[in-house]
Amino acid sequence: MANRMLQFTQVQRHMPPKREVTLRRSDFGEIYDEFEPQSAAEQASRCSQCGVPFCQVHCPVHNNIPDWLMLTAEGRLQEAYEVSQATNNFPEICGRICPQDRLCEGNCVIEQAGHGTVTIGSVEKYINDTAWERGWVKPVSPPQEREQSVGIIGAGPAGLAAAEQLRAKGYKVTIYDRYDRAGGLLIYGIPSFKLEKEVVERRTRLVADAGVTFKLNFEVGRDASLPELRLRHDAVLIATGVYKARDVMLPGAGLDNVLPAMDYLTASNRKGLGDEVPAFDDGRLDAAGKDVVVIGGGDTAMDCVRTAVRQGARSVKCLYRRNRANMPGSQREVANAEEEGVDFVWLAAPEAFDGRDGVAEVRALKMRLGVADATGRQAPEVVADSGFTLPAQMVVKALGFDPEDLPTLFNCPELETTRWGTVKVAYPSLMSNLDGVFAAGDIVRGASLVVWAIRDGRDAAESIDRYIQAGAQSGTHAASAAA
Ligand SMILES: Cc1cc2nc3c(=O)[nH]c(=O)nc-3n(C[C@H](O)[C@H](O)[C@H](O)COP(=O)(O)OP(=O)(O)OC[C@H]3O[C@@H](n4cnc5c(N)ncnc54)[C@H](O)[C@@H]3O)c2cc1C
Ligand code: SF4
Repeated sequence: MANRMLQFTQVQRHMPPKREVTLRRSDFGEIYDEFEPQSAAEQASRCSQCGVPFCQVHCPVHNNIPDWLMLTAEGRLQEAYEVSQATNNFPEICGRICPQDRLCEGNCVIEQAGHGTVTIGSVEKYINDTAWERGWVKPVSPPQEREQSVGIIGAGPAGLAAAEQLRAKGYKVTIYDRYDRAGGLLIYGIPSFKLEKEVVERRTRLVADAGVTFKLNFEVGRDASLPELRLRHDAVLIATGVYKARDVMLPGAGLDNVLPAMDYLTASNRKGLGDEVPAFDDGRLDAAGKDVVVIGGGDTAMDCVRTAVRQGARSVKCLYRRNRANMPGSQREVANAEEEGVDFVWLAAPEAFDGRDGVAEVRALKMRLGVADATGRQAPEVVADSGFTLPAQMVVKALGFDPEDLPTLFNCPELETTRWGTVKVAYPSLMSNLDGVFAAGDIVRGASLVVWAIRDGRDAAESIDRYIQAGAQSGTHAASAAA
């Protein structure tokens, strides 16, 4: 067994093959092919099975990575799948879109020793895609049904993970979502070239097959208030994500074709799903034939530039006020974007948008990095007399997201939020200031990652279970008692 592992000195690190750039640029299919079984086993065998697996420590859901790597190297894939899914509700999704360089792989011991990290994410994807192909993935089936119910607001990864965990414990679970499809940003934010929609949809079908009820096109605040949901359920989980786009307050920001990133990405994702999108069909949200400038340096900006390339933009530029080393987006995605023809204009910020009927040009300024701020990050400063212009018939603003005003939106002014507008929760319970109302995912952390949303959803499910059981013993919970 031992000789199957520790192969990092003989076997070089390899990612699964990437599709050829010209093909990638012309469709929205995922860019990585699957590992061949032999390559997956070889790559897994590079793991050193070190005594303190930092990969596991730095994985937000604490996946038992060394064990599933060893099982994969030995060809024991079904067991590898069992271990992998025990800690993660959506492992093949994380394998695709986690920024592994900052999480598990960035802390791999053989990487620190200069051998190149084990390709943990790709093996995780391989194990779980294989499990789907072979029919090993089944809906959770609770050993006993419980009479209590939980209402979950938001069908993104936090809400879905919590729903699956609570259903496994036998609770009646209803998810409310204002979108017409479940999945949250997995469906309408993240493009298919990173995560194909069927990969998300088979997961949401599985959650429904486990007996979770989905009430879609149901907006809490419009169709029911939070106090009303509290009366319907023994506990409520808020997992609404963050959707208020940060804006640029610059001259010309109101011109046509200066667009918020989510409008642009949602339209593209909807087209891919076969929906009618008039604002895309009339050209407004379609980059075809245009010079496109995307402002921002995070994952959202990377997704916008790469979407524009695939829509057939004439040129695509990404304007970011810091340099490459200081950008928040994953370096892997920047490299992919560069391969696909995106031009990065580092250390540059917009000054104004010019045009008559719509935007025609971005006026920009060069920046340099000045002294570090309180967080240790160097603040960008304008370089004097450095103005330049870029042609642009479409500008996409990808500057990040803040929480919506939930107390007002939910008709529940007593819900406490932080000064950033995120829901204030107690740790480790994740319960808000309202009895029996919990929160998880981006609405607690601010814009974050899918794997953290899953972790929070799982933690919230544990807390909700403890809360309901404690109430059941003392006979205090309203909804099921009243039912
Ligand atoms: C463009 C983009 C690309 C990203 N790329 C990556 C990536 O590559 N890797 C990664 O790990 N993370 C990425 N992220 C971040 C990741 O998508 C989020 O951190 C994650 O989806 C948060 O999960 P969530 O469940 O908290 O919220 P969401 O996924 O936002 O889901 C919230 C759900 O709540 C619903 N909702 C909101 N308000 C209401 C209401 N009043 N009533 C009913 N329903 C409501 C919404 O419709 C939505 O379905 C990306 C984000 C964006 C925007
Ligand atoms: S869930 Fe993400 S961080 Fe954890 S092992 Fe998988 S890819 Fe790495």
